[in-house]
Order: sequence, then structure tokens, then C-alpha cells
Amino acid sequence: MAVMFSKIGIIGGGISGLAAAKQLAQYNPVVLEATDSIGGVWKHCSFRTTKLQTPRCDYEFSDFPWPLRDNSSFPSYIEILDYLNSYATHFDLFKFIKFNSRVTEIRLATNIIDHDHNPNNNNNNNNNINININININNNLVSAGKPVWEVAVQTTNGSSDHIQWYGFEFIVVCMGKYGDVPIIPKYGVNKGPEVFKGKVMHSQEYSDLTPQDSSTLLKGKKVVVVGYKKSAIDLAVECAQANQGEDGKSCTMVVRTLHWIVPHYSIWGLPFYLFYSTRFSQFLHQRPNQGTFRNLLCHLLSPARKATSKMIESYLLWKLPLAKYGLKPDHPFEEDYASCQMAILPETFFQEADKGMINFKRASDWWFWEGGVEFEDKTKLEADLVILATGYDGKKKLKASVSNLHTSEIRCKWLARLIGGKFKLPSMEKMVDQINTETQIMKKTTRFYKRTCISTFSINHTDEICQEMGWSSWRKNNWFAEAFSPYNSRDYEDEEI
Ligand SMILES: Cc1cc2nc3c(=O)[nH]c(=O)nc-3n(C[C@H](O)[C@H](O)[C@H](O)COP(=O)(O)OP(=O)(O)OC[C@H]3O[C@@H](n4cnc5c(N)ncnc54)[C@H](O)[C@@H]3O)c2cc1C
Repeated sequence: MAVMFSKIGIIGGGISGLAAAKQLAQYNPVVLEATDSIGGVWKHCSFRTTKLQTPRCDYEFSDFPWPLRDNSSFPSYIEILDYLNSYATHFDLFKFIKFNSRVTEIRLATNIIDHDHNPNNNNNNNNNINININININNNLVSAGKPVWEVAVQTTNGSSDHIQWYGFEFIVVCMGKYGDVPIIPKYGVNKGPEVFKGKVMHSQEYSDLTPQDSSTLLKGKKVVVVGYKKSAIDLAVECAQANQGEDGKSCTMVVRTLHWIVPHYSIWGLPFYLFYSTRFSQFLHQRPNQGTFRNLLCHLLSPARKATSKMIESYLLWKLPLAKYGLKPDHPFEEDYASCQMAILPETFFQEADKGMINFKRASDWWFWEGGVEFEDKTKLEADLVILATGYDGKKKLKASVSNLHTSEIRCKWLARLIGGKFKLPSMEKMVDQINTETQIMKKTTRFYKRTCISTFSINHTDEICQEMGWSSWRKNNWFAEAFSPYNSRDYEDEEI
């Protein structure tokens, strides 16, 4: 079997894979991307109306500013893809990427590469790895004496598939949490899509449609959108937009769990970052191993945290017709923020609801009947199309925290320095212990804990990464800015040590 060797393999060509390729470029990494393009979720899970949920300067590589970075509008997914393409072109990353290359299996080979069998010595039969191989190596051989990750990659060429094996000393897993594994609800006997006469699709399938095809699909149809997170909210707006005019039909969102939704990043005239994204605000949130004094302070200041949450809730209830539509959550805003559940509303969402184009149905359980969907209160809703905006089973892909561009990039900088031997990892026990402590603390902050979400301690998290890299973690020019201004990628431009 022919095996390609390289020191570094990167799985995925979304923002994390691109950041990893840039930071590890000196090793000529191989980036294996399952699809035919870069961009990950921005290419494959986006709809016509999908936009970033933050201003562009908060979703920016530290060494590659957005054009018009001070434009405060939220960029569309097309603008994000353009930005990522420019980044990859500027740093010459396309040369590392192998498209249509899906990793299907990874094994750790405990046997060891022997440099006497280095292909530079023209020996193409290295049997020190558990598989028969003809070494076909570029100039970045894995190091002698190191275990090798064997990676099976399914490459698609036209209609035929082929498995190619790779050997890497390090693999960087950048497969993302979204996409690929849709969550499909389970139904009882004769209650599933098989009894329904209309069409059922997951939002992932919908995101594959062109803007023209998606409008045609929705126009004149009674649509039920299942879900109440970002994708469901965007989808409801798309239904309403496609159904303007006399023949238009309204759509209904089936809402199981309510979450706080936010119209913009200004609360009672104050910028949102003041509440959760400054060093001062994050000081109020508990961290592992923070010492007795800070523990006590966090405890004493917990009323301040609750007051902040209440202040935001009062603004949202004043600004949005949540009570009118039965959409007021019973839990504190802070819990949604601490579990990365907060969604930013498209501008026209409640305008469409007020026009009657978006309706809401609260239900903890529902199933299909031949003409639509039925609920536990025995009511029925007619539908031509049911779209499941029920999310993705990220855990089936990867047990990792939610990432954004800043966290992905800083972690890749950390990784480049780790691989470069600038520092060493703590023991496995210490790392597992740290993760467990963090998880315990996070579980206390929100009932919606599913996975790590660093929102309320993103600055602390990055501080720890900086400290490990030997960087200074306080990165502002004066103490006032340090305490009260937000941090973004620009604060973490490279610092050589
Ligand atoms: C609709 C939507 C809106 C979002 N909005 C925001 C936002 O406003 N702000 C924000 O910060 N974050 C947002 N996110 C979160 C977003 O996931 C991250 O910001 C970021 O884009 C994740 O990038 P990634 O590279 O880690 O993963 P992904 O973008 O998921 O990329 C993973 C890549 O890995 C590839 N891959 C997967 N499996 C394999 C395999 N076996 N072999 C080879 N390749 C593989 C995939 O094809 C994909 O290209 C949003 C996510 C979604 C789905």
C-alpha cells in the first residue's frame, strides 16, 4: 500500500483548518478537506440570509484585517467566504489543501519510523510500521522514534472513490462541530415522515439549495420550521420573504425550549461587550484554581452578575414582543450566554411575525399526520413542507468546545509553538484534571451545558494560552483599557519569544 508521509496532517478546511495551515506552514502540512471548497460551515451550512452574528472586527485573523473592518454591519456568509478565500490566497495556503479528501479512519501506529529506511536513502520498503508501505515522502518526514498516525483518506475523482493512506506525526483535527451529522427527531410507530404527504427535510439539505431554488421551494407553501435557534430563526425569515404578496402563506415555528434572543449589541445604550467581554466583567465569573480570595469575591459579587443578567432581560422584554408571542424564557439570560445559546435576530423577524407571516407553536412533543404535524395538546397543523432546524450532533463528530475564529487561531498559534518545542505539555493526569474541573464549574453556571463554551471566560482562557506560550497575557496599553475594553484577535498579534 502506498503511504504518503508528512509531519503534520490537518483534517478540515474551515476557519480552524486554515488557521492551522497558516500557523504550521513551515512544516508543509497536508490539509485534508472532504468537500471541494474551503470555508466549512460558511460554505455548507449557510442559507441565503445567513450572516455572522458579530461585527466583522470580532471575527478576524490577527494578521489579516477585513477590508472596511470598521463597517459595523454583520457580514453575509458570502462576504465571509470571500474573506477566507483572500486569507488563503494571501498566505498561499491552497497549495497545502487536498480537496475531495475525506478522512475515514485514523489509527495510531505504535511501531516507529526508522530513518535508515528514509526514502531519501532510496529505500521504498519500510516495514517498521504495521502495514506494507511504499514510502512516497515529501521533504517533511516524520521524526525518527515518534509514533505515527495512520490516516485513511477517501478521495473522490469523478465517480470513482479511492482510499489513500497517509502517515503523520501530528494530526490537527479541525472537523468542526456542525454539519455532516444532522439531528433527526425520533418518532413513534406511524408517526414519522412516512405518513406525511408533504416534504420533510433537514436544514442541512435546505442549505444545499441555491437561493433561487430555496425561494421556489418555499413560495406558496405552508411551512413548518421545527426549532428555535439561529438556523430556525433565519429559515422562518426566509419563508416569510419568499411568501410576500397575495398568494403568500405563513410559516409556523415549533418551539420546544425557549432561549433569549437579542436584536443587536446595544443594551439600554451600552455596548454589549461591557457585560461579558471585558476583563472586569469576566473577573466576576468563577474559574478553576483561582484561589480562595477570588472565589470569595465571585461569591460576594454574584448579586452583580444576577443584576447584569436582569438588566439585559429587562431591555429585551422592552425592545422585543417576547411576552406577546409567549416567547419569554423563564431562565436568566446569563445561562444562555454561558452555554453559547444566544442568537442574534435578523432585523425583520418580529416585523414578519406582526404581519402574521411567522407564527409560533410551543410544544414539547410533536409528530406527523398525513396532512402536517400534530401536537400533544391534540391540535393539528397543516403543512406542505416541514423543515427540521434541529441542529447537528456535534458529539458524534468531535468532542470539543464550540470555536470561533479567535479561539481557533490562538489555539493554532499555541500548537505551532508546542510543535516547535517552545514549551511542553503538562502530564496527561494534570490535563484531564483541569478539563474535569472546568466542566464542573461550567455545569454550575448553566442548565443548558452540553459542551465547553468559553463565552464568560474567553479572556481568561486566552490568558492561560498566552502564559503557556510565554506571552504576556495583559495586552492593553493602560489599566483602564485592560479592565473595560473588549479583547479581539488584534490584541494577540504574534509575539516572538
Ligand atoms: C449556521 C451557522 C452560523 C454560525 N455563526 C457563527 C457566528 O456568527 N459567529 C461565530 O463565532 N461562530 C458561528 N458559527 C460557528 C462556526 O461553526 C465557527 O465560527 C467556525 O466557522 C467553525 O469553523 P471550523 O473550521 O472549526 O469548522 P467547520 O466550519 O465546520 O469546518 C470543518 C471542515 O472540516 C471538513 N471535514 C469534516 N469532516 C471531515 C473528514 N472526515 N475529512 C476531511 N474533512 C472533513 C468539513 O468539510 C469542513 O470543511 C456558526 C455556525 C453555523 C453552523
